[in-house]
Amino acid sequence: MATISEKLQLVRGRIHAAVSQTARPEGCVALLAVSKTFPAVTVREAMAAGQHRFGENYVQEALDKMAELTDLRDQIEWHMIGPLQSNKTRAVAEHFDWVHTIDRLKIAQRLNDQRPAHLPALQVCVQVNTSGEDSKSGVAPGDALALAREVAALPRLRLRGVMALPAPTADVAEQNRQLAEVRAVYEHLLSQGLPLDTLSMGMSADLEAAVAQGSTMVRVGTALFGQR
Ligand SMILES: *Cc1c(COP(=O)(O)O)cnc(C)c1O
Repeated sequence: MATISEKLQLVRGRIHAAVSQTARPEGCVALLAVSKTFPAVTVREAMAAGQHRFGENYVQEALDKMAELTDLRDQIEWHMIGPLQSNKTRAVAEHFDWVHTIDRLKIAQRLNDQRPAHLPALQVCVQVNTSGEDSKSGVAPGDALALAREVAALPRLRLRGVMALPAPTADVAEQNRQLAEVRAVYEHLLSQGLPLDTLSMGMSADLEAAVAQGSTMVRVGTALFGQR
């Protein structure tokens, strides 16, 4: 069994190799380690190996983990990457650094109103749904610009970019179609003058394809911590 440190090196190597296939500079893709379902001790181990950015999906699980890691709070960047209900926004506004899953204005307004004054603005991404399934989270590509403009106007949020969670598929062409559609939304928002720097897409199975399509932040769980 590889250690977390070894698996981090492997994933960093995959990112490095994927970036080197593009014209983009080394270091342009950040690694978000997705620690959902894994205990605080696992986060500690990854931190000891130099990882500082962690993604969580479930608010209560994340709060419990954070409570065990208060000694490291200043060194950790916590990213909320799961669907967000209205009744959980306060805890997220108070405890997270980033939220990737903004898909409606009401949630953004609540986070804005609830972000404590002593903390910097909450860093956020608008989640785009490119799979065309009504049931999935995320704003339709055609509605992303309007939502992004509204979110960008909220003073306690800082809009950083676009996030997507394409429907899992073994069909490489379909995978690339979805990743390219997310990229097109991101570039459209940039072309409209929104000052974005984050395209959050790519996971354990598709990080190479996502980097090829311009991802600036890959969210990796299984390849670092094992099966959930
Ligand atoms: C769980 C999760 C990931 C990590 O997926 P892996 O396939 O385990 O790398 C990334 N993004 C989101 C939104 C997730 O929920």
